[in-house]
Amino acid sequence: MTAHLIDGKRISRELEADLAAQVTAIRQGGGRSPTLAVILVGDEPASAVYVKNKRLACERVGFIYEHVALPATIGEDELLAEVRRLNADPAVHGFIVQLPLPKGIDERRVIEAIDPRKDVDGFHPYNLGLLTVGLPGLAPATPSGIMQLLAHEGISVAGQEAVVIGRSAIVGRPLSLMLTAADATVTLCHSRTRDLGSVVRRGDLVVAAVGRPGLVTADMIKPGATVIDVGTNRLADGRLVGDVDFEAVSRVAGAITPVPGGVGPMTIHALLQNTLRAYRAQSAPLAVSGQAQS
Ligand code: NAD
Repeated sequence: MTAHLIDGKRISRELEADLAAQVTAIRQGGGRSPTLAVILVGDEPASAVYVKNKRLACERVGFIYEHVALPATIGEDELLAEVRRLNADPAVHGFIVQLPLPKGIDERRVIEAIDPRKDVDGFHPYNLGLLTVGLPGLAPATPSGIMQLLAHEGISVAGQEAVVIGRSAIVGRPLSLMLTAADATVTLCHSRTRDLGSVVRRGDLVVAAVGRPGLVTADMIKPGATVIDVGTNRLADGRLVGDVDFEAVSRVAGAITPVPGGVGPMTIHALLQNTLRAYRAQSAPLAVSGQAQS
């Protein structure tokens, strides 16, 4: 068997057309374009590439992109001041702080300082809490992108066994909630899972989000399973690979995402969608509280 390739890059470009049409309608109605700001601290090459891809995606759909470059030597208080500035700026509808941050800066404190209404990465505990109880909010971009990838491919997870490897607060854990909400039976694996292979083999859907090249091998995959590779690993020879042994697993799986060109572009797409959602929420007429007086 040769797995069907789930082309996240192509799918994200198709979905972008809808976002671009919404922006055009906003502009024609006299509205300002949705604006995404990105804070990039330092000059880590991988982060610079991720941020550039976000800027290009904004340009493709007609968003305004605001770049905030800060030196790696910046202190936590200065960074928090920048976050507060963007929270207060009505022209910025959503923003992210590109991770990782330099040593000495508490990422959690920075994320918690972001106004949840502008938290388009969906990392703030308030937004993660909304996801947990099943209320609408700004959901984390990578798991949202994965759910859309599955929907686009017509892969229904209802009643299926889904195995998620990796329990981070930004990928594995929220994805396990989304899959549960979509009626999958979810097993969440992590660094302390015993006999990973036997657990993963149960999966009709397997999602790898660890950051270890070659972790998922062909013998772990149930024939015909859908395999989603979130891992992004740079090898010594410069190649970018996922967590899945792509060549061998492709011969067993029913469908598989490549790295690069799978989950990454869908993450950016979900970030743009969150920005548009934040824009609409901030542009809505103020809710009138209480009863009208008679
Ligand atoms: P993380 O480092 O926060 O978490 C890794 C998780 O893997 C942990 O929960 C840990 O328990 C688990 N783990 C470690 N070793 C394991 C093992 N041997 N077996 C099973 N589980 C194990 O990682 P993260 O931020 O969730 O990112 C995971 C990977 O996904 C990284 O490669 C990252 O670069 C990539 N990523 C890609 C995108 C994208 O858009 N493509 C987005 C976010 C993260």
